[in-house]
Amino acid sequence: MYAGAKAIFYALSRSGWLKQLASRYGMASSDSFARRFIAGEQIDEAIEAARRLQNRGFLLTLDYLGESVATSEEATAATTEYLRLIDVIVASGIERNVSIKLTQLGVDVDRATCVDNLRRILDPAERHGFFVRIDMENSPYTAVTLEVFETLWQQGHRCIGVALQACLYRTENDVRRMNELGARVRLVKGAYKEPVTVAYQQRREVDAAFVRLMELLLDEGTYPAIATHDEAIIRAACAYAARRAIASDRYEFQMLFGIRRDLQASLVASGHRMRIYVPFGRQWFPYFMRRLGERPANVGFVVRSLLREERDAS
Ligand SMILES: Cc1cc2nc3c(=O)[nH]c(=O)nc-3n(C[C@H](O)[C@H](O)[C@H](O)COP(=O)(O)OP(=O)(O)OC[C@H]3O[C@@H](n4cnc5c(N)ncnc54)[C@H](O)[C@@H]3O)c2cc1C
Repeated sequence: MYAGAKAIFYALSRSGWLKQLASRYGMASSDSFARRFIAGEQIDEAIEAARRLQNRGFLLTLDYLGESVATSEEATAATTEYLRLIDVIVASGIERNVSIKLTQLGVDVDRATCVDNLRRILDPAERHGFFVRIDMENSPYTAVTLEVFETLWQQGHRCIGVALQACLYRTENDVRRMNELGARVRLVKGAYKEPVTVAYQQRREVDAAFVRLMELLLDEGTYPAIATHDEAIIRAACAYAARRAIASDRYEFQMLFGIRRDLQASLVASGHRMRIYVPFGRQWFPYFMRRLGERPANVGFVVRSLLREERDAS
């Protein structure tokens, strides 16, 4: 079921009619279904959501949604939007932290364009004291993402970090490499349906790998981010850190906007660092479908919300 649901929702995320239907209703009003996971379509909505979270003691990272662009024009447009986001964040006074996907910056078009675009973002980001996290996409992009990351790291960029996925067999080596570099890693389970040739298929295998890698990062890593909503794993992280006398300011937890808000709040209340990933933008459909694939029970609330919108519109 674990891998199966991801595969089904991945296939649905490529459906044109579903995208059209979702786009029509998903963000239409303040309580439309996609708003549970997405802060808004516009920058100012994201800034407001982020400000509210920051006022409640959360750390933040903002993600301008978009991925898999096919032309250099689209990659340039996304880069320009990130440059605008940097200016708006600076003016707003909220925390300076963004997350980025390389397929949004044109890695499929050509790698040099993507690196140029990333550098255009890193220059002002560095000047203004931002941290820029490179999200990890599906396995065809793992190697190229890490190569681009290392190229920029070797060129002296230190305001960058990367995400690594516990589901992939290769990740232990990647964690060791990042620890050696002193680079900051966000550890996640992995949001994509991956083949058995590269990734664990069973939930318990992914969970066990996550715990192993988390311990490696806590022992040898540089300010790792433990990005999960899995309460058992979070408890294990706290217990491990306590056993090894690792202070709570040497790592952070991260969760996605709108997911396990109760757990988010309780971690902050108990003195932990908790960063919320705040996605926004018009290209929210693939991100939204990944959230449904992680927890098919979410479909229930989407259907209820759609029925309500249909009723209200008629
Ligand atoms: C800050 C952050 C950044 C991320 N960045 C990346 C990335 O760069 N690349 C990548 O591949 N993946 C990324 N992910 C997604 C990640 O890989 C998982 O797909 C996602 O976090 C769900 O896994 P989980 O660790 O929460 O564990 P799960 O075992 O999936 O879930 C544990 C519990 O969390 C709750 N939960 C989890 N997902 C949902 C949901 N969608 N709706 C409602 N409840 C839910 C449920 O209570 C569930 O029982 C990121 C996740 C976070 C938190």
